[in-house]
Formats: sequence, structure tokens, C-alpha cells
Amino acid sequence: MDDLVPVVSYQRASADKARDEHTVTDQRKVNQMTAGRLGWRIVHAFTDNDKSAAKEGVIRDDFEAMLRVLRAGRLPDGTRVQGCVVVAEDRLVRRAGDYERFVDAITSSDGRVFADARGPKDLYSEDVESMGLMGAVLSRMEVKKMRRRVTRWHRSRAEDGVIPNGYRPFGWRDDRRMLDPVQATAIRKAVQAILAGGSLNSIVRNWQETGFLTTRGNAWEAQTLKQLLRNPRLCGWRKINGEIVKDADGKPVQGQWEAIITPQEWEAVQAIFDARRGKQVGSNGVIGNLPTDFRDHTYLLTGILRCGRPKDDGTLCMAKLRVTSHRDCDHHVYACRSKAQGGCGRLARRGDMVDVFVSEVVLAKLEEQPLEAAQVEPWTGASELEETETQLRELRDHWHKKKVSNSLFFSEVERLEGEISRLTKERAQHEAAARRARSTVTDIRRRWYSDTDDDRLDMAQKRALLREAFHAVIVHPVGQGRGSRGTFDPDKLELIWREN
Ligand SMILES: [Zn+2]
Repeated sequence: MDDLVPVVSYQRASADKARDEHTVTDQRKVNQMTAGRLGWRIVHAFTDNDKSAAKEGVIRDDFEAMLRVLRAGRLPDGTRVQGCVVVAEDRLVRRAGDYERFVDAITSSDGRVFADARGPKDLYSEDVESMGLMGAVLSRMEVKKMRRRVTRWHRSRAEDGVIPNGYRPFGWRDDRRMLDPVQATAIRKAVQAILAGGSLNSIVRNWQETGFLTTRGNAWEAQTLKQLLRNPRLCGWRKINGEIVKDADGKPVQGQWEAIITPQEWEAVQAIFDARRGKQVGSNGVIGNLPTDFRDHTYLLTGILRCGRPKDDGTLCMAKLRVTSHRDCDHHVYACRSKAQGGCGRLARRGDMVDVFVSEVVLAKLEEQPLEAAQVEPWTGASELEETETQLRELRDHWHKKKVSNSLFFSEVERLEGEISRLTKERAQHEAAARRARSTVTDIRRRWYSDTDDDRLDMAQKRALLREAFHAVIVHPVGQGRGSRGTFDPDKLELIWREN
């Protein structure tokens, strides 16, 4: 039906109406004709009157609105815009910066079209001669033009799955194509650890001990490891400007290098990182954001135990307990901080017993889940996702065969793509949950108490599992008068479980 390229037009009145050869109406007519000749359709006409032409520094409302539309690629009502017609090009440019901003806006995406009185111009590769009146901005334009060309070149290469230039990524050999077996194995193990509830820090410590350095020769840190695991290159995909590079059918382009993990695994790790922006009970009892567990915790429950001693006003102290050790005990003690440090200083509990008790409660909880949760039912969205993808394919097909209008096509594409990205995310979360559940079922208990260093869950992994199970453990007082450092009463431990 409607196969015309949707564009906008721009016209502006002159400051000096008496000498104005082109009235706004004339400009609009010529713009229409030019567009029509090129097989374009003007979906919106931007017009600035002379008020803005009169003085330097006055903002031209429609010019600015047009730049926004060109940058967005659509009108506020959603109508797609792929270019611009301005026959009176001198009206477009009042200051050198205007043209530059205009070109920047229109070329912010690939495939945009532009025409002036002389006909269509390729603003992506505009040569110096044809830029006539833009002399003032040429040198800066040159730089920008180069940058745009380079960007376009990168993108088209990415769409072919070509190996990007740059540093050798950790995990691959110098050719950036074949795997480095040792490093790739380490990455695979790290991914498994994350999927099993492990922490970045425990992996980093392990890598540091192994002697791994980044390819730039730096020591690994949690942040750099996270960047590595966030990189879709691991599963053969590539991201440009925050978006996975996809082919015409909307499927991620598979790169020409060997992948270390599957896309499902990569997506599951992302889902875990996203979900770990978790929650924690604050000292005031309010649930807030969970700080990343970066410190190397020696004790299982520091930062997790909270003081449950009532204050004078009846509310609970809720300060985090810390670990103290005493010469006369052979075990650690969790104790409330002093008043000066924000606690009440009047509660303590025998650490080894609390650790064992809380571990057992959580292990028991994990073990009872497998029957219901861990044999995670297959993801229910699979057929919906498949159907949505089919719809999108059919829609594209219909559009290519001109069976649907542009406006219907683009609004539908947007809806379907949104739906697909929601479902894909949901699938990744489901996959992450299933994997965690599987590793939970098989061997968490054994590894919790294992004697072998290699096998045993480290403190950070255990703490991650605990944090996943509950928000906090409130330690209530055991009674007045008794020295509580040596006391232990499981009934006085209140676990605040996370929902589900
Ligand atoms: Zn306290």
C-alpha cells in the first residue's frame, strides 16, 4: 500500500519579507514536489516564522523540534521518520553549529535520506565540494564524517559476525578466534560458580591465586571479572551501543569466533547479576538495597545477624552484629556494637552454634524445595515466544510484499519486539532459577561441609546462598542477667525469609 519513505520538511520565513523570494508557502510546495519526485512522503512539515529569524540567539522552536524528531526517528505520535527535505537550505542554517547539529541528528541512525534544491544528498559521505555554504564548519564536519564512516563500517562488519579488532579478549588466543583452553575453562568454571550462587569475589581470589592476569596485564578484580561475564562475546554474540547485534530476522548474529558458553548460560548469568541488585534489612528495619558483598568475610553471618534487643522506646536495636573473640573462649562470638558505634552493646551470642544452626535451617529449606521448585516446571512462555517471533516474521514478510502500511508495520513491530524482549528476559530468569535449583539439589549440603578445599563452598558462596534465602536473622535476647557470650538458644533466632 504505502511504500513511500516517510520524511519531514522544514521551511522558514525570512527576516526581510520585502526581499524574500521564497515565501514559506512556496518553500512548502517545492518541498512537497521534491519529496514526491524522490518517492518520499512528507509526514510532518516544520515551519519557523520570522520571529526567530530576527535575532541571533533566539531559539527556533520548530528547528529544535525537528532535530529531536530526526534523532528519535519518529514523530511524537510514533510515526516513523526516515529523512528530511529542505529545499531552501539557507533557511536551515543560521549559524555554523546549526548545520552540524542537523547533520548529527539526521545521521544518528543508518539509512536516513536528505534532499535539498539540488536533489538528494548523502549526508553520511557528503564530499567537501557540495557542501557549499557550510564552509565554516567543514573542518569539524570532516572529523565527524570520519567518525560516522568508522561507526558504520564497524556496524556492518558486526552484522557479518566479523571478529572485532582490539585487545585479545581473555579466554581466546592471539587470533581472537580460537579458544585459549586454560582461560576458557576458567571462564566456564566461573560461569558455573555464578550460576550455583557463587560470588565474584571468590572467583577473583581463585584467579589471583592461579596467577591469571587480564590481557592488559592487570590483576583481576570483581569489577573486571563482572565486565568479562557481562560480555556477550562469551557466547558468540556482540553488543554495540548496549544492543546485541541482530540480523534482519531479529536473531542475534553469531560471531566468527569460538564461543565459551551457550547463549542460555550467558543470559542466565545476566539475569543473576540483574537480580542481585537485591534487598537487605537496614538498621532501622526498613528493607533497602543490598550492598555488594565485596569484603572477604571470614565469618558466615556478619552483616546478616541483627540485634533484637528492645530499646527504651520498644523498637528493636537492629544493629548488625559483629564478631568478637575472647581469650577465654575457643569460639567466635557475635556481639552488638557499642552505643558509640550505633548499637546497644548489650547482646552477644555464641558464634559457632549460631553458624551451624542457621546453616542447617537453610540447608533443610533448600532440600525440601527440590520436589516443588527445583524440578522447575518447563518455562510456560515458550510457545508464546515462538508465536510472537512467528508473528514478527510474518509481519516483516507482509511488509516486504507491501501488504501492510508503514504506520501499522512500525507500530506492530514495536509492540512485538517489546513482547519478545520481555519474554526473552523471563526465559533467562527461569533458566537461572532452574540451574540454581539443579545445583542445589545435587550437592550443596555435601559441599557445605566438605573437607576438600577445592570442593568446599567458600565463605562467599555460602553467604550468597544465605542471602538468597533470607533478608536477615534477628537475634533476640536470651534473658536478663546471664552472661550471653556463651549462650545459645535456637528459639531466640528469628529468620526473616525472602518471599518464595
Ligand atoms: Zn543491640
